Amino acid sequence: MDFDGIFTDPTEEGEACTKYFQEKIISFDLKEVGLESMDKIDSWMGELRARQAAKPYSFGWRSEGRVSAFTFEDPFIRNIGMADFLDYLAANGDVKAKSILKQLKAKDQLSSFSELSEWSFHQLKLKKQPDMGAKKWVEDAIQKGHEVIIVSNSSTDKIVEFLDQNHYSVDSRPQVRGGAKKFGLGKNPRPLFLSKDTSGQKNLDVIADTDRPTYEQALMELKPDAVIGDVFSLDLTLPLRLKREGKLDFKWGIFYRYRDYTPSSMVEMITGRNSLVPEVKMVRSWGEVPFQ
Ligand SMILES: [Mg+2]
Repeated sequence: MDFDGIFTDPTEEGEACTKYFQEKIISFDLKEVGLESMDKIDSWMGELRARQAAKPYSFGWRSEGRVSAFTFEDPFIRNIGMADFLDYLAANGDVKAKSILKQLKAKDQLSSFSELSEWSFHQLKLKKQPDMGAKKWVEDAIQKGHEVIIVSNSSTDKIVEFLDQNHYSVDSRPQVRGGAKKFGLGKNPRPLFLSKDTSGQKNLDVIADTDRPTYEQALMELKPDAVIGDVFSLDLTLPLRLKREGKLDFKWGIFYRYRDYTPSSMVEMITGRNSLVPEVKMVRSWGEVPFQ
């Protein structure tokens, strides 16, 4: 199981990251490029999001210079993907992006928007919002004799703290494998073709990189019967490839947890009539992951 977005709803945390990101920009008081108030920054970012939405698979969370997770896949990656787009704009002469970057370097020793998004993430002080359905499901699974293991990019400490705060008891507590670097790509791209755009636009085809050596090592060690995640590219594309290669069978299933932020293009990709990924089941509630 993934952690953020499965055991928690990260919406508020994502919004708080955006706020820290934007407040940093406001602090520079860049009147000369029209970015001196929250309203102006908000509307500028809204416009940038619309531009990003025209090519949603070109930006996101990068590793080894390649896109590892697509920009709109969850509330955290939404910020990371915005930063990625801003770095692209600054490198391509956008006046607003360049002015901000100059300030970031001069005043904060931050060398890119991506570093600013990481900084924003580290400002988070919010308590994580628990998904009570997940808790009940995990407790039931463990009672029935299943092993439940969290494999997550988040640190083990943070996850354990969450389990303590949310009263996961000793006999109904999942094992934790934090710092799993599911986003970490290796040196050898392994593209997996997920969906073809019907209008024939190449930049709308969905191709995910499954070269995720650290995550692969964890999966091959743990040999899970099921996997569940809320970010398709990070959590599920590698299991999908391993299943197709016959390395793991995931006989219980590969489950994609739907949330309010799940991009509609992903929903269509999984549930649409012409889906190329029939191995993946989209679940909107825990009742849709029945026990085997
Ligand atoms: Mg997640």
